[in-house]
Amino acid sequence: MEGLIMDYPLTTNTILEYGNSVYHHKKIVTYLPDRTRHEYSFGDLYRRCKKLANALTHKLGIAKGDMVGTFAWNHGPHVELYYSISGIGAVCQTINIRLSSNQIEYIINNSEDKVIFVDATLVPLLERIAPLLETVQHFILLNAPKDFVTTLPNTLHYEELLADQSEDFNWPKLNENDACGMCYTSGTTGLPKGVLYSHRSTFLHASTIMSPNAGNFSNRDTVLLIVPQFHVMAWGFPYLCLLSGSNMVLPSSNLQPDDLIKILIEEKVTKANGVPTIWLGVYHAMKLNPPKEKLVLQEYLVGGSALPKSLIEGFEKDFGIKGVQAWGMTETSPLGTVSRIQPKHEHLSENEKMEIRAKQGIAFPGVELRIVTDDGALAPTDGKTMGELHVKGAWTLSSYFKTNNNESFSEDGWFKTGDVCTIDEDGYMEIKDRTKDLIKSGGEWISSVALESALMAHPKVREAAVIAIPDEKWVEKPLALIVLVDNKGEVSMEELIEFLSRDFVKYQIPKDYIFINEVPKTSVGKFDKKEIRRLFAAGELGSN
Ligand code: AMP
Repeated sequence: MEGLIMDYPLTTNTILEYGNSVYHHKKIVTYLPDRTRHEYSFGDLYRRCKKLANALTHKLGIAKGDMVGTFAWNHGPHVELYYSISGIGAVCQTINIRLSSNQIEYIINNSEDKVIFVDATLVPLLERIAPLLETVQHFILLNAPKDFVTTLPNTLHYEELLADQSEDFNWPKLNENDACGMCYTSGTTGLPKGVLYSHRSTFLHASTIMSPNAGNFSNRDTVLLIVPQFHVMAWGFPYLCLLSGSNMVLPSSNLQPDDLIKILIEEKVTKANGVPTIWLGVYHAMKLNPPKEKLVLQEYLVGGSALPKSLIEGFEKDFGIKGVQAWGMTETSPLGTVSRIQPKHEHLSENEKMEIRAKQGIAFPGVELRIVTDDGALAPTDGKTMGELHVKGAWTLSSYFKTNNNESFSEDGWFKTGDVCTIDEDGYMEIKDRTKDLIKSGGEWISSVALESALMAHPKVREAAVIAIPDEKWVEKPLALIVLVDNKGEVSMEELIEFLSRDFVKYQIPKDYIFINEVPKTSVGKFDKKEIRRLFAAGELGSN
């Protein structure tokens, strides 16, 4: 028997309508690439979205199911694109600006974008590949001066596109399972793969991460969206801000630590997101040059890579700011878990509590996790047994775009993450490594993530990346790449070995170290293990 409840599709239009009716007075602040500050209200956003919906439909001929690409920083117009493209039933396909030209060309042709909205400062990246793009009919220039010159064909300025459009537009009736957005995974191996989000998954993801046990956002917050809108829909933050009535602050390309600190202070930001690299930078800049004005920032939500325990401790001790770790993937919209202390943990020592917060955390409602060992058995939730993390849930992909490739899924339909994890009896998941990165030395597992976290806790170490290198006796052994704080000072190999010996047994401790100026990173700021392995194999990493 079906329940007697209205059929009310959970679409991004309902989010926009809600944000306008209840929180029209809330603000969206953008710091544009030239550092100028622009402010408008959720009500202004709403009216501009309607104009844009008219322009997309009547001027650009975009229809339901069409793909529309964005190649842009975080700013107000990009948020308008999120809502208006999906609002008319088309798909907002965010293109990662940090990928190589080949990958960008592949993504645009594979997704069959009809129109691309591109930031003026990013135009040169598209000019190079424009002749190779098979389906793009128009390029719309964002934040471009009137006299902007480009070789891109069929261009139009965004503000001109909107200028003569009506603010009246009736959103079409959509099915909540229709596609609304698409993001390609960074593809550390092979070609990028598209993940197609639905209206329903987007709505449920955003409303769940808003809740106190999860991201803890409310209409008292001002949120800085550091995670790029071209990476997994900025973790759903443009949606959750409208749902929660949080003011939204968008930094565009102003992502240097000093820019971010200035924005955090000036806008009285209370919550923010970002990958660890960003927060490591902000922390070290604040240590070096303590801000005169106290930040009102309460929490920063970190994911994408492991949040080092030393960073959580440092930020809290030195500035009273709390780091909250989350885990997720492009394939999981992205947020799947979050790590917070519960009342049952209050009696624990500060160190024990820190151990819990440094885990990746418990699943959000709507997400299920399990660990499968190498021999295919379901691992016990004992916090010790390692295996591959499988996930399923209301915002986990069911298939990649345009592929029948099922090797990423188990026979019973779970998504295989490639992360090697444990889950303890309270459901806290901890990443030990990625399948590709786990080091097996003499038949025993060594976690490179644990070594990296431990090394980064050394006061002289800013970044540490550990990879497996071949060894005649043990088959594999760990190699540590070390970046010193401010690239200054010295630390000896013996000192690091001694430092690690507090937490690791002898065979787990690297005996090989190379000191470098910067760890190579992927387009989304993670340690690029593939590139590090390549540099090592080519003998280009220097000597220890
Ligand atoms: P992406 O799809 O690019 O977001 O990458 C997802 C992958 O990033 C996951 O499968 C993990 O390997 C890694 N990752 C995400 N969040 C965390 C985290 N909190 N700690 C460690 N690794 C993470």
